[in-house]
Formats: sequence, structure tokens, C-alpha cells
Amino acid sequence: MKLILLGPPGGGKGTQAKFLVYKYSIPQISTGDMLRANVRDQTALGIEAQNFMNEGRLVPDEVILGMMDSRLQKEDCKNGYILDGFPRTIPQAEGLDKLLDKIGHKLNYAIVLDVEQEAIVNRLSSRRSCRGCGRVYNLIFDPPEKENKCGSCDDELYQREDDKTETIKNRLKIYNEQTAPLIEFYSAKNLTQHVDASGDIHQVKANLITALI
Ligand SMILES: [Zn+2]
Repeated sequence: MKLILLGPPGGGKGTQAKFLVYKYSIPQISTGDMLRANVRDQTALGIEAQNFMNEGRLVPDEVILGMMDSRLQKEDCKNGYILDGFPRTIPQAEGLDKLLDKIGHKLNYAIVLDVEQEAIVNRLSSRRSCRGCGRVYNLIFDPPEKENKCGSCDDELYQREDDKTETIKNRLKIYNEQTAPLIEFYSAKNLTQHVDASGDIHQVKANLITALI
């Protein structure tokens, strides 16, 4: 099962990716992990990537695709893989297409997790974190016993910058702008599978399984 997983930030993508890893015995491949592994092992591409990063520049797509070339042909990819966070742009999607052609792989699906974005904003903006121990509460689903106080250490709760409504809305806007062209790209190849991801985790898993049959 060779998959691309697209879903909004805060939409449960990480949880569903873990489930797919387990269900299909496939690795989840994120560009961040792959980059770090190449830099750590000082591969030729890792050294090249490091040079770009040292100069404060983005690592070019060709370097990432080069790493992906060897990564996707490793033993643990024999049952397939989930690409997470790549591609993000059309040039990357086109580059990936060429690479997959070259190594004789074929994507099964680009899964699009559809989540009501208003629900993401409501859920994430209800989070409060403890200044002392970092414990995270949710005013709706998991409220503290004493208002604005941590039940573990009695320190004060606050709203992290990442959990503020404006920050969340901004991240969702960026996601929508980045993802819309990719959805079109994979729709044109009949690879998109939209999965309703607004229910609870078990319901979403069931929806995923149905979509992947
Ligand atoms: Zn605390």
C-alpha cells in the first residue's frame, strides 16, 4: 500500500498515520526524519543538504527526491509506505511522479482527510497548558478541576501561541492554499480518496479502511 496522506493541522493525521503503519506494516516517511538520518549518517546527499541548511537556505527538491530514491527502495518499504508532509507543492509532486516511475512504484492513493475546520479551531483554541509542568488541558473535553489551575502542580494555566484562534486559522489557511492544487493534481490521476475525518478516532479508522479497499 503506497500512500500520500493529506490532512489539516490538528485534524488527527498523526493518529491515523500510526494506525495505517500498524495495519499495513508500512513505514511512515517524513522528509524531516529522512533529512536528519542522512545528515547523521553523513551521506553525500546529507552533506549537501547540510550545506544548504548552514547557509540558512531551503534544501532543494532534487536533494530531497534523491534521499527519497534510496529510502523508498529500502527493505522496510517492500509492503509500501505512507508519505507524510511530502509532496507539498506541484513541482514536488511532479518530481515524485518521475521518481516513482523510475523505480517502478505506483501510488495507490492520495488520502485526503476531510475535517470540519471550524471544529479544529474550536478544539485547539480550547487548549490550556500548565506553566509549571506543561500538562495540557482542554476546557471542553478535559477541563481542570479548579478554574485556570493545574490539577498536578497547582500552577497557572495559559494559552500557548500555537493554540490561539488566529494562529490556528492562519495555519489552516496555509494548509488549504498548499493542498488545493495537490488535491487537483491527484484527482486528475484518479488517486484521491476523501475520508470523512470529523468523527471520533474509531469512526475515522473505519472510514479509512473502507476507503482503502
Ligand atoms: Zn502543572
